[in-house]
Amino acid sequence: MVSIERMMQYLQEERKGSIYVTKQGCDFVNHFQEMITRERVVIRDENKIIPPGMELQLINESSINAISTKIDEEYCIFVYKGIVEEQKEYLRRYDWNFFSSEEEKEQYLDDIIEYGFYFIAAHEYAHIFCGHLDVRLTEPNELIAEECEADMFSIDYLMKYIQFIHPIENITEEVEKLFLAVYFLFENMQRQNYQEFYNDKLMQNYYDPDRIQKRDHPLDAQRILYLYDMLNIVVITDEAKLLPIKENIIEKLRHIKRIGNVEHSINDVNYTIVEDSINKIRKSIKDIQEKIPRFNA
Ligand SMILES: [Zn+2]
Repeated sequence: MVSIERMMQYLQEERKGSIYVTKQGCDFVNHFQEMITRERVVIRDENKIIPPGMELQLINESSINAISTKIDEEYCIFVYKGIVEEQKEYLRRYDWNFFSSEEEKEQYLDDIIEYGFYFIAAHEYAHIFCGHLDVRLTEPNELIAEECEADMFSIDYLMKYIQFIHPIENITEEVEKLFLAVYFLFENMQRQNYQEFYNDKLMQNYYDPDRIQKRDHPLDAQRILYLYDMLNIVVITDEAKLLPIKENIIEKLRHIKRIGNVEHSINDVNYTIVEDSINKIRKSIKDIQEKIPRFNA
């Protein structure tokens, strides 16, 4: 186990940073550690293999980011406090007035912040679990595929987690919160990333080989879209039915962002370019999965 002192030393030397301690932050960290521990026990019992563990801390950096690294051969994840505190401020700019009381609204925003933290932490854990951290690929398209695989791992894991701990009637609302958490994190992240600055050349970002070559992350807009595609949960009671998660999310977003009911004219050509860019990323995940040795392979 890496000691707190050793992590503090690493943060100070490598990043001029420090561990950030709050009650809320500690609750999130402890809860996520428990979630992963439970998962490791299940995998151990089923497969007789123990997935890697990790240390997790919130650190005193305010951008929307997180890192995973190795300190003395142990895996460590550091989530920036921006994911919790600055993100909460960001959410407050929007219109959440569909709640009947201020308390209800605050609780809802806190839930979104909590899911956002788990999404980011599980994304970083995926880099460890899937072997990305050890293999150190360098090609831009491989790095993009790793990010995409980590995003999908994270949302897939959290959707299963929600189904595991909540009764059927609450699943739609919980997944809705999870997705809104991710959506607003990417939206906020987009503002701090120069590669996302579109000006009037929005579509060029998706197909221009020169721009693609310079990127080592999927565009935030691409990340939102491929994760949105994953929001299908079928429940089987006396019949099999698909939960209306996607419809509810669109409706909520319209309200929160005050878009109203304007029908957007969909530009088919543009949409095809975006779809195509996402399918290319999906395909490159298969390529890296063959290339990277997995702990359970
Ligand atoms: Zn990542």
